[in-house]
Amino acid sequence: MDNSLYKDVYIFAEQRDGVIQPVAFELTSKARELADNLGEKVVAILLGSDIKKEANSLIMQGADRVICADAIELKDYITEPYTQAIAQIAMDAKPSIILFGATTIGRDLAPRLSARMTTGLTADCTSLEISETRNLMMTRPAFGGNLMATIVCTEHRPQMSTVRPGVMRRIPMNPDATGVVDMFEVKFDSSKFKVKLIRKVKEERKGIDITEAKVLISAGRGVGSEAGLLAVNNLAKTLGAEISSSRALVDAGVVDHAVQVGQTGKTVRPDLYFACGISGAIQHISGMEESDCIIAINKDKFAPIFGVADLGIVADATKVLDLLSIRLKAEMTK
Ligand code: FAD
Repeated sequence: MDNSLYKDVYIFAEQRDGVIQPVAFELTSKARELADNLGEKVVAILLGSDIKKEANSLIMQGADRVICADAIELKDYITEPYTQAIAQIAMDAKPSIILFGATTIGRDLAPRLSARMTTGLTADCTSLEISETRNLMMTRPAFGGNLMATIVCTEHRPQMSTVRPGVMRRIPMNPDATGVVDMFEVKFDSSKFKVKLIRKVKEERKGIDITEAKVLISAGRGVGSEAGLLAVNNLAKTLGAEISSSRALVDAGVVDHAVQVGQTGKTVRPDLYFACGISGAIQHISGMEESDCIIAINKDKFAPIFGVADLGIVADATKVLDLLSIRLKAEMTK
């Protein structure tokens, strides 16, 4: 394959109910950096019905061009119409790189497309960089997260990867940015449509999304006792923070998986992350190490969590959390 025929960094701009998802903006921000390294352009692929009006937000986020396919078949995500649309766009435009969010939609769509394009796909990347030979270096955890593997797709194009929401940092939007919006007409083969959307059932979201929290009090096995969890709750209330956890407490049935931080949970980057009684296994750290400030409380001074902490407290976490709540309440009522 002649790789030089393929150029530009594409992202799939996922929308749900006509709203572009935050992960699309995170991917556009990363694509901007990659494209600048390559001296190429950022192109966003936007599929939907009556969706063109949303294209400008992608340009403000850093896209040079938006390829928009507007069709009733693309109103809601269904695998086959979306795959046909994106495959036709990719075959026509010949992107060098395509990035997808590792959401339920991205995880369904990206492998289909990679098979249709006879290229590879690296899922759940935590880092993307351009090599000296202008290939995309796609890094992701391997062997249960115990080592990081960097995968390069040298023989085939496009180079494809999925990235979980929250992993890439979103750059501020530029309201003065300019770009091009091109409409693309998809030639659907409806004989291949085997699935129909009958109705959508939305699960009610319990509590807030921890990926949006500014302050997280994260509980590990070391505060899994009744007293420990009460201390975590009290500090969260005092600070107006949200509670998250390590997998140990999820597996123990103490907290919901929705608040698990880490490789098989969510990736968070709050302003302040308290790691309370969390050892700091690589699978946990990979989900929180980008937090602006990390305070770790652990009674074991050799706990790996201290390796990523800005402030480490070697002590019984329950006692520290109780004292902190008392002190903060006193300061706040002064
Ligand atoms: P532990 O490892 O048991 O650590 C408890 C810590 O608390 C210890 O460091 C101890 O010194 C300290 N402690 C005990 N008592 C106190 C006290 N009174 N005061 C202060 N400190 C105290 N884990 C995740 O968190 N998220 C993931 O997404 C995730 N995904 C995984 C995916 C795979 C494929 C695998 C194999 C594992 C995954 N894990 C994940 C599990 C991970 O390897 C660890 O087992 C888990 O993070 C441990 O949780 P923990 O730190 O709460 O518990």
